[in-house]
Amino acid sequence: MAGSELFPLSEEHESIRQAARNFAQKEIAPLAAEFDESGEFPIKTIMKMGELGFMGIEVPEEYGGAGMDTLAYVLALEEICKVDAAHGTIMSVNNSLFCNGIMKFGSEAQKQKYVLPVASGKAVGAYSLTEPMSGSDAGTMRSRAIRQGDDYILNGRKSWVTSGPVADYLVLFTMTDPEKKHRGITAFLRNSDKSGFVRGKKEPKLGIRASATSEILFEDYHCPIEDRLGEEGEGFKIAMAVLDAGRIGIAAQALGIAEAAYEASVAYAKEREAFGSKIGEFQGISFKIADMKTRIEASRLLVYNAALAKERGKKTGERFTQEAAMAKLFASETAMFAAHTAVQIHGGIGYSKELPVERYFRDAKITEIYEGTSEIQRLVISRTELGIR
Ligand SMILES: Cc1cc2nc3c(=O)[nH]c(=O)nc-3n(C[C@H](O)[C@H](O)[C@H](O)COP(=O)(O)OP(=O)(O)OC[C@H]3O[C@@H](n4cnc5c(N)ncnc54)[C@H](O)[C@@H]3O)c2cc1C
Repeated sequence: MAGSELFPLSEEHESIRQAARNFAQKEIAPLAAEFDESGEFPIKTIMKMGELGFMGIEVPEEYGGAGMDTLAYVLALEEICKVDAAHGTIMSVNNSLFCNGIMKFGSEAQKQKYVLPVASGKAVGAYSLTEPMSGSDAGTMRSRAIRQGDDYILNGRKSWVTSGPVADYLVLFTMTDPEKKHRGITAFLRNSDKSGFVRGKKEPKLGIRASATSEILFEDYHCPIEDRLGEEGEGFKIAMAVLDAGRIGIAAQALGIAEAAYEASVAYAKEREAFGSKIGEFQGISFKIADMKTRIEASRLLVYNAALAKERGKKTGERFTQEAAMAKLFASETAMFAAHTAVQIHGGIGYSKELPVERYFRDAKITEIYEGTSEIQRLVISRTELGIR
């Protein structure tokens, strides 16, 4: 059964899905293994994706985007990730974590200055919350911003910044009042070409290797007050609201990886023979196919449902934290399950770089870690259900 039969799509949604599928097959598929091997940032394909509107799908056209809805974003991202999750990571950060946050919390001047170039694919954005000593627990971050007249002076080390080695602009979270812990965090927008901005060590990663990741250091970096995003102390609220949207993107990424692993497995099970039969005829293999398919379709419903909840929230102001967390949790664990199963179904060749299934396996793991680990998603979901604040 095709996903669209379970979840009927409008013509507009079908057309963005098809456009992303065509682009991914034609432009990314021939390069994916090469970029995975080299770990080089795929700037040319990313710029082309920007020209097609994929870097700001939900951003209104007057700010350089495609002016479409969250479901369109999810469908396009799923298709890109089905071919290469690393391109998907870069796309997801530009859309959900960078443009989305500024569109929601930024001033008109900030939208013009920062969203327009990133949404139109002329520049790369990044989101920087994590530090070497604080990931899940952002309230313990050590970087500092101190107000001096109309400027803030920033110092500190941020880690695990996706697109950090190349990003032109960053949404960055820094402590302005450490005593207040997470309520003392403030968000800023940064230009990478100003003095005091230093790109640190590049992370040697297991998967999504072409989405370059690095540390960023701030050394007496002067940030004018007009580049503060929201009010002082609102940073944590902004970071979490932005992550709600981001988690829907990661869930779509996970869905794409799982589908790629599944399709490769079905094709191989129909073709590979052992003991005089196609391996798909063995129940040990066919039941794996059944479990993959069932979990993928359940993930699809959670992911598309979260996209619709976000879209409704644009009108009603309602949060979609729970829908996003459940979609990310289930889809990422499905991606890991499907990729792990795909390697098993392929036997020895599944472990080889000659086929992309080993890349799906390495890429799937990140979806259970970034933008809130699976443990953090369970914490978010259970606290809401139990009424724990
Ligand atoms: C490839 C990659 C790209 C990334 N990109 C970005 C980016 O662009 N921007 C950014 O800001 N960050 C980014 N990150 C950082 C990422 O979001 C964090 O790694 C993640 O949130 C986990 O934080 P941590 O690594 O500090 O782990 P920790 O918070 O130290 O957690 C370690 C373990 O403890 C568990 N744990 C922690 N607290 C609890 C709890 N209360 N209950 C149960 N278990 C708990 C975690 O689930 C995990 O298993 C990226 C990370 C990677 C690997």
